[in-house]
Amino acid sequence: MQEAITEEPTGPSTQFWKRPEQVLLDAGKDGELVIAKIRIAVTGVLLLVPIAGNIEAANAGRPLHWIGLIVTFAAFALSWGILLMVSQDRRQRWLPLATSLFDVSFITLTQLLYAFAVNPLVLLNNRLTFDTYFVALVGTCLRFDRRVALIAGLTAIAQFLLSVIFVAHHFDVAAIGDVAGYGRFQWSDQFSRVVLLGAVTALNVFIVSGLQHQRRLSNADALTGAFNRRFLDHYLRNELARATRHKSSLAVALVDVDHFKRLNDDFGHAAGDRVLRHIAQALETAVRRTDLVARYGGEEFVVVLPESNADQAMMRMERIREAIASSALPLDKHKARSSTPNMKVTISVGIASWPDDGQLSTELIASADRRMYEAKKRGRNLCVGPAAAALTGDGG
Ligand code: GH3
Ligand code: MG
Ligand code: MG
Repeated sequence: MQEAITEEPTGPSTQFWKRPEQVLLDAGKDGELVIAKIRIAVTGVLLLVPIAGNIEAANAGRPLHWIGLIVTFAAFALSWGILLMVSQDRRQRWLPLATSLFDVSFITLTQLLYAFAVNPLVLLNNRLTFDTYFVALVGTCLRFDRRVALIAGLTAIAQFLLSVIFVAHHFDVAAIGDVAGYGRFQWSDQFSRVVLLGAVTALNVFIVSGLQHQRRLSNADALTGAFNRRFLDHYLRNELARATRHKSSLAVALVDVDHFKRLNDDFGHAAGDRVLRHIAQALETAVRRTDLVARYGGEEFVVVLPESNADQAMMRMERIREAIASSALPLDKHKARSSTPNMKVTISVGIASWPDDGQLSTELIASADRRMYEAKKRGRNLCVGPAAAALTGDGG
């Protein structure tokens, strides 16, 4: 789930199509739940309109209208189905886009149904169903994914435009007079509606981009771009709760740079900073999307590995340890203050797994910390896990 901010991002528009970090997608899941409840409330209230209309028609001896009743009832029932789906404690990547497109498409279908079954002007000049496009589009912001905001907006524009063109050609709309207060058909009215949909879509994309950007900055460590300690605490608590619910595994690794003080002394603090960024980046490139790298303090990082047991975490961290030990450092050899500059940077890693090494995040990190010191004692450049035998490097 890493989105490294090793450099200050040039703006929220960079890498537009990149999947947002898991943190935002998780927040979007809460938003999805809010939208699901609002969807039920809105369709529930709208259901009352055709019910009241039909009661009135029945009392007055007029024929009943079934379309409104069927459409709103279908929307109400489907909204409950979506709520059930959204309430599941699973990360469904397709869900935000699917529900956004459902909302938009359902509105378009309703308008088309009314156009053909009642009157084409219901599609062309109706206010209520058209305005619900805006409710659906603003709701996409709560998914915290600008790609969803853009695709839903463009879909609404395309569907609306195509259905207007289709209906305007299918019926002799110019000849239809002012039926039931809908006014006359004019292309300029339809054009301004498309412009409004476009404006709302653009605003939504900017709002979500801004939110994504702010959220990323507030969770990131300023120097390395890894997640900060505050976010680590929040994330680890959530992941432990998730692991408990799903009875899955979780491991944490505490990474400490070896002899970092010496590197600072030899190359200067600025070079030390560059090496810290280099290590953060190496960790972030090596972990899985669902793992998290956070800067824990000075030259220490914590890696959270959800759904990994101690052995799996050990294997993965061992690969990372080797990769860092053999990687070229962003250092200038000639600027070294010492005559024997140590051009290699290695890490010592302590690994702890849930639930064996502790139930709480503090217990897990304390356990990983003890093992990291064990690695230092055994000569550094080493991973130490719960198993008695540590995987040994070349012993920095
Ligand atoms: P060990 O192998 O035992 O971990 O040795 P060490 O030198 O890495 O350990 P120690 O904890 O004594 O030193 C950590 C050093 O990290 C001290 C501090 O100056 C340096 N440091 C902490 N934060 C930063 C930072 O943000 N930038 C730079 N350049 N150095 C930092
Ligand atoms: Mg340290
Ligand atoms: Mg150190």
